[in-house]
Amino acid sequence: MNTHFKPTRLSSRLSAVRPSPTIAITRLANELRRQGRDIVGLSQGEPDFDTPSHVKEAAKAAIDAGATKYTDVDGTPELKRAIVGKFRNENGLSYDVSQISVGTGGKQVLYNALCATLDAGDEVIIPAPYWVSYPDMVLLAGGQPVIVPCGEADGFKLSAPLLRAAITPRTKWLVLNSPSNPTGAGYSVADLRAIADVLLDHPHVMVLTDDMYEHIRYDGWQFATIAAVEPRLFDRVLTCNGVSKAYAMTGWRIGYAGGPADLIAAMATIQSQSTTNPSSVSQAAAVAALTGPLDFLAERNEVFRERRDLCLAAFNGVDGLSCRTPDGAFYLFPSCRGMIGRKRQDGRIIESDVDFATFLLEEANVAVVPGSAFGLAPFFRISFATATERLRVACERIAKASSRLS
Ligand code: PLP
Repeated sequence: MNTHFKPTRLSSRLSAVRPSPTIAITRLANELRRQGRDIVGLSQGEPDFDTPSHVKEAAKAAIDAGATKYTDVDGTPELKRAIVGKFRNENGLSYDVSQISVGTGGKQVLYNALCATLDAGDEVIIPAPYWVSYPDMVLLAGGQPVIVPCGEADGFKLSAPLLRAAITPRTKWLVLNSPSNPTGAGYSVADLRAIADVLLDHPHVMVLTDDMYEHIRYDGWQFATIAAVEPRLFDRVLTCNGVSKAYAMTGWRIGYAGGPADLIAAMATIQSQSTTNPSSVSQAAAVAALTGPLDFLAERNEVFRERRDLCLAAFNGVDGLSCRTPDGAFYLFPSCRGMIGRKRQDGRIIESDVDFATFLLEEANVAVVPGSAFGLAPFFRISFATATERLRVACERIAKASSRLS
C-alpha cells in the first residue's frame, strides 16, 4: 500500500512554506555522521550548557507535589506573576497578569500572535537577515512577509529610512529581533529611538519584539526593548521572550510575551484550540528560572565571549572571509563574498553561499547554515554555543579547506 501523502492532499497554505533550512542542514550532517564522518555541527542554535540545577530541582519538586495536570491555557498565575516581575525589574515595563501569555516555546507565542492578527494581504515587515521562522510563520498565518535587506554596512540593522520606505497601509507588524539571530547585532537605545520616531507617525503598525537573546551579550553592550524606549508605543508592542536560550532550557519549551490584553486573550483562544497549556512541569521550572539567581549568566557569557573571539580571529584570518563582531547571542555571520568564484579541487566553482556551506560540509566536515536561509547572501551562520575544543577543530578545518580553494 502506498502510504505517502499525495501533494493534492496538502493545503495550499503549505505550498508557500519551506521546512526550516537549519533543520535540513542538521539532517544532512547527521546522515554524513551515520556514514562514519566526524562532522562538527555549528548549525544548531542551542547552548551546550546544562539547565541550572535549581531549575531542575524545582521541576522535580513540582512533579512530586502533583503539578502534573492541565493548567490555565496561557500560563499558571505563579508563572505570569514571575514574568510580570521580570519585565518590571529587568526591562522597566509594567504589565498586568492579564497582559501576559505563556506558550510552548517562544516559537508558539510568536505564531499565536501572527495567527491572531493577520488577514490575507496583511504585511509584516521583517528586516533581513532574519531568524528563519519569521517569514514562514507569517505565510502560514495567511499574511505577507515584506523582507527589508539590512546589509553589513548598516550593521545588519533596520534604519529609520528603510523602515519608512517599507511601511504601507497594509503593514500590520514590524518584527524586531535584538540581539539578532543570525548576526548577533544589537539595537542600541538610539537605534530604537529612531525606529520609534517612524512608528509614531504610523499608528496602524504594531511591533513584535523578539528579545530571546536579551541576556547573552558582550563587551558591555546594553540591551534595550522598544516598549521601554518609547512608552507611547507600549499599547502596540508585543514583547516576546523566553527561557530557552538564557537558561539553557530549549527542551523545556517555555516562551512568553507581554502585550495588549485583547491580543493576549486572542492568543489564548488560539492556544486553547491547538495545544492547550505548556507543560505544567516546565512552567514550574520557568518560575524558578525567572525568580532565581542570574549569577551563572556572567560566567556563561564569559565562556561564550571567549568562543566568539576565538572564531572571530580564525575567520578574519582566512583569505576570503570577514566577520563583524556581534553584540550578543551566540552566532557569527561571516561574509563569504571573497570565496565566490573560487574553484574546489574537484573543479566545482563556489557560486553562492549555499555552495560554500556545502563545500564546508563536504571538505571541512563542518556544518554551517548559508546566509540565504536567513534572507541575506553571501554569508553563513555558525553557532558558537559548542564546546570550545570542537570550535577550535572547526576553525582549523575551515581555514585548511579554504586554503585549498583556488
Ligand atoms: N526567536 C529567535 C530569534 C530564536 O533564535 C529562537 C530559537 O532558535 C526562537 C525565537 C524560539 O525559541 P523557543 O525555542 O523558545 O521556541
